[in-house]
Amino acid sequence: MGGLAAPLPKVVEQLRTTFDSGRTTAAAWRHQQLAQLSRLLSENEKQIAAALATDLGRPAADAWLADIGAVQVEIKTARRNLGKWMSDSRVRLPLAQFPGVGKIHPEPLGVALIIGPWNYPFFLTLGPLVGAIAAGNCAVIKPSEYAPASSALLARLVPRYLDQNAICVVEGAVRETAALIDQRVDHIFFTGSPAVGKRIMAAAAPHLTPVTLELGGKSPVIVTDDADIEVAARRIIWAKLMNSGQTCITADYVLVSKTVAPALIDKMIATLAQFRPDASTGLPILDGRQLDRVAALLENPGGTVVCGGSIDETAGTIEPTIIVNPHLDSPVMQEEIFGPVLPVIQVDDLDEAIKFVRDREKPLAVYLFSASKQSASRVVSETSSGGVVINHIGLHCMAPNLPFGGVGNSGMGAYHGRWGFETFSHRKSVVSTKTRPDLPILYPPVTALKQRILRLFF
Ligand code: NAD
Repeated sequence: MGGLAAPLPKVVEQLRTTFDSGRTTAAAWRHQQLAQLSRLLSENEKQIAAALATDLGRPAADAWLADIGAVQVEIKTARRNLGKWMSDSRVRLPLAQFPGVGKIHPEPLGVALIIGPWNYPFFLTLGPLVGAIAAGNCAVIKPSEYAPASSALLARLVPRYLDQNAICVVEGAVRETAALIDQRVDHIFFTGSPAVGKRIMAAAAPHLTPVTLELGGKSPVIVTDDADIEVAARRIIWAKLMNSGQTCITADYVLVSKTVAPALIDKMIATLAQFRPDASTGLPILDGRQLDRVAALLENPGGTVVCGGSIDETAGTIEPTIIVNPHLDSPVMQEEIFGPVLPVIQVDDLDEAIKFVRDREKPLAVYLFSASKQSASRVVSETSSGGVVINHIGLHCMAPNLPFGGVGNSGMGAYHGRWGFETFSHRKSVVSTKTRPDLPILYPPVTALKQRILRLFF
């Protein structure tokens, strides 16, 4: 545990004392904490990259893009817009309420609990923290125990840079998470699997603690006849290689029109060779448990493995693997892959691809490669997912003006930019009116005339 000297049972209580002091609601505090968070990232780039290399085997350039740069963008956006976000917004009231004035006042929720996964251990804890701070909350971060070097670094750095009595890190696993939820926080922001998301929601229910669930699932890529196949292949493989495919918004599988399938598969194999010219090993997988899980998906998937397929248990790596037309009821097509394995399913046309997506759980993202505006608008309106990107992968996650989140099985609620601020705020309705005139129309005794007049106003 970092940031607070108290034992675990007192963490939320201590943070609440700070919240009740009102300190965190001041705009100056929010700005200063966000500036400090930015300093934490820029002054510790090397340590963060080293922790990510230890936990995930991630190269330093990828560490910057996904775990440092991405949080800095969030901080910059929040600091630039904080004044606007914090301001009350005036709304028109019905004529019957004249001379009243209506406004929406954003108020912080109190103490937020942020539970992170292991795959982007800084972005997925400090990213939500930006929203929590911007909205004026206290927060406790519970990083994943499966990225221990990153978790330990967060626990060391957060109290050095941020207000120790308002923001802290509690390291641990299920027991610690459960203990924190039991202490009744005011909001839980969870990023992880749908299975654990259900448990978090159940644990939150006794206190009626609201939850934001940023979950995963199988995000499809649809490739139509008229797509730019070369670019599609490049972008799909780029996304699949990132963090060894252990990314929630990566392409889980491809639905490609039969006529262009051979060309797409050839280009993807060529792209793999081009992107990894000296590849003598596979891609690093988090740990033995994850390696075994992904390896199990490669056991009898049906279809044809057209490239890759080998697993090195000693090195803890898996070769980038493409499987064409696996059985649809095999685990690789039933479970989120979360590794460098890409099933490619051939379909007749866009109708079949859309039906395929609609027949399954709502994914975090749907991707479409197509030159046709009509196909794009069909995919947007006929499928349901957290987000849609046309002709690329994952870009919606890197745009702070867009809400990022899932729907159905891929989650509830959203964040990034203003949406992070909104998630950690309550929108309080405020009506302020005058004591005069004090018309008797609402007061008893009810008369036919009063009722007739009242109806005129609705
Ligand atoms: P996970 O659900 O196993 O764990 C996430 C967090 O929950 C960890 O901090 C863990 O300690 C905690 N946890 C685990 N079991 C718990 C329990 N029973 N009670 C309380 N807390 C518990 O997820 P993971 O393996 O770390 O991450 C992979 C999953 O996260 C994938 O499904 C992926 O798609 C998803 N993900 C989603 C996003 C997104 O933004 N939507 C981003 C990254 C990852």
